Amino acid sequence: MNIFDAMAKDGHEQVSFFYDKKTGLKLIVALHDSTLGPATGGTRMWHYDSEDEALSDALRLSRGMTLKNAASGLDFGGSKCVIYGDPEKSPELFHAMGQFITAMGGRVYTGEDVGITPQDVEQMAEASPYIVGRQATSGDPSKAAAYGTYMAVRAVLTETTGQPSAKGRKILIQGVGNVGLELCRLLAADGAELVVTDIVAAHATQAARLYGARVVDGEALFAERADVFSPCALGLVLTAERCASMRVRAIAGSANNQLASPEVAEILKQRGILYAPDFIVNGGGVINISDEFLPGGYQPERAMAAVARIYDRLLEVFAVARTEDITTELAAERVAWRRIAAHSGGAQQPMAPS
Ligand code: NAD
Repeated sequence: MNIFDAMAKDGHEQVSFFYDKKTGLKLIVALHDSTLGPATGGTRMWHYDSEDEALSDALRLSRGMTLKNAASGLDFGGSKCVIYGDPEKSPELFHAMGQFITAMGGRVYTGEDVGITPQDVEQMAEASPYIVGRQATSGDPSKAAAYGTYMAVRAVLTETTGQPSAKGRKILIQGVGNVGLELCRLLAADGAELVVTDIVAAHATQAARLYGARVVDGEALFAERADVFSPCALGLVLTAERCASMRVRAIAGSANNQLASPEVAEILKQRGILYAPDFIVNGGGVINISDEFLPGGYQPERAMAAVARIYDRLLEVFAVARTEDITTELAAERVAWRRIAAHSGGAQQPMAPS
């Protein structure tokens, strides 16, 4: 890959490569944009077939973090750290990682992502003040992600029915893991009718037992007529084929990268299915973490109040989409870029968590 061409394509500011000869750690830190503030984004440790693949992932995901942070109303830029080469995990490996992040001088904060455990995060934090989402602070983000998704469901209901309440509304949920099950709890408390599917039968059964959800098998979920479909499993679930036949009024779920291809957003618009862009819906996790930076350090009530504003943010995006006659996905991106463009004074000074 020609790195400078790749950086210029999406406007990445900095890509750093670190190698620790003692532990074999190979770390890529991609910093996409720091206009709004120091960049944040988790650390991913994944099996990549090549350095190019790892680098592409770091570039793509860091740009996604810029959008997510800006659209979530946070004063943070976007970054992503990728550990390449499947090194053996050890405290020394994550200490080396922490030291490299410290060497970035506060331009980048990181924490958990795919392949990284809470224990790995603690070990990074032993060597760096720039690690977020520790157990002693904001901890597991999935409750906040679920609450944000719940507020997103309320927002799409407001837009499609005039009322935010889920009482009597039929909601389809794909994936009832950490986020999906908590979403079931919140919606069941409002009196929603829940239909769920999960590839792990025990997860679906739990949703049925605890929250009265009806369980269906895999694809059968997409044949249901419903008010809202909430994808809370994996990405790329919204294929052109499914979206051409789905019988729901709106989509709002926590999964990342839901659109299988860019034209799907247009198909949904044409069919009158309201799509709540995933990077706003699932911003609850990062909004929760951002509370660590506020005066007095992490405070759960304040964090949840900030997560609740996902509701207003989505209504704003829907209004932009309507006024400009564009897809909600494009409207969300425009809202994020406009926020970055409007930010005066350029990059902020690095700051330390309180
Ligand atoms: P999880 O692993 O706890 O739950 C995912 C659930 O989906 C599991 O029960 C799994 O069995 C099920 N599943 C997987 N593939 C499926 C399929 N094809 N059909 C039906 N069910 C399937 O993950 P989670 O933490 O609940 O996160 C859910 C989604 O939300 C993920 O896409 C994640 O990236 C995204 N997300 C999570 C957070 C968070 O804080 N946890 C934050 C932002 C975004």
